[in-house]
Amino acid sequence: MKVAIRDDDTSYFTAPDALDRVYADVWDRVPVCLAVVPFAIGYEQPGIPQAHWHSGESFALDRNRELVVFLRKLIASGRATVALHGYTHQDFADGYEFQAAPDLPDRVQRGRSYLEELLECRIKVFVPPHNALSKRGLAAVAGAGLDILGSFLSFRPSMRPWDRRTAANWWAIQRYRQATGRTRRDPLVYPHALKYARHSEFGCHSLVPGTTVDMVLRQFEEAQKFGGNFCLATHYWEIDPPLKGVMRAFLDFAARQPDVRFVPAEELFV
Ligand SMILES: [Zn+2]
Repeated sequence: MKVAIRDDDTSYFTAPDALDRVYADVWDRVPVCLAVVPFAIGYEQPGIPQAHWHSGESFALDRNRELVVFLRKLIASGRATVALHGYTHQDFADGYEFQAAPDLPDRVQRGRSYLEELLECRIKVFVPPHNALSKRGLAAVAGAGLDILGSFLSFRPSMRPWDRRTAANWWAIQRYRQATGRTRRDPLVYPHALKYARHSEFGCHSLVPGTTVDMVLRQFEEAQKFGGNFCLATHYWEIDPPLKGVMRAFLDFAARQPDVRFVPAEELFV
C-alpha cells in the first residue's frame, strides 16, 4: 500500500520557515508533494498578508529567492516533489481559477514550464486551486497530460469531458459505493488511481481543522481493506500543534503497517 502527503499553497508568500516548522521531522520519512503556485495573486487566506488579499498584484515565485533556494534543495534531496497548483490561484467573481479563468490551457502550459525551469524539476501532477475544476478546467489539465491529485473530484460523466475510459470509471465508482454501503450523497474518496485516456486522477483525504486521528484512521483502514492507496492533503498555513499531532499519529500508525510504503505522491499514479 502506497501512502503519500500533499501540501498546498506554497507560493511567493511562503516563508521557508513556515514549511520547515511543519515538515522538518516529516520529509525525511515521507517525501511531501508541494502544490506550488507559480504567479500568486492574493485572496483571503491566513497564509497571505492581508495587504495582498485584494491587491490583484501577481507575484512570481522567483521574487522570493530564499524560498527558491530552499525548494531546490528539498527537491534535489528527495524530501519534496512539486505539483502545479493553478497559475495565480486568484478568485474570480464567478468562480475559482480553474473554473473561471479565460485561458486555462495557457495557464497550465506556462505555469508548468516556469516552475520546471525555476525549480529544476519535472512536474507531472496538477492540484486544482480550492479543489475546484470545471469541465473546461479538466480538459485543459488532461490536455497537458498532467495527472490530477484532487480532494472532491466529481465522477459524474456530465461534469467531465468524455473519453473512452469515462464509462468504465463511472461503473467502478458505483461498485465501490455499493461495496462500502454508501448512497449517492455520501462523500467518497476512491482509493485507486482512475485512468482516463490522457491522464489519471487520485483523490486525497483532507487534514483540516476539525480532522481527528480516528477519522483519518477509519479512512485509511477502508483504503487498506480495498487494496488501495492513501494520500493525506493539507495546508502548512493551518497546521497548529493539535493538527500536527494528528499527522504524526497517522504517520506512526501507517509506518507500523507491514504493507505500507511511503512514496512521493507522483507514484500514486504508477
Ligand atoms: Zn490552494
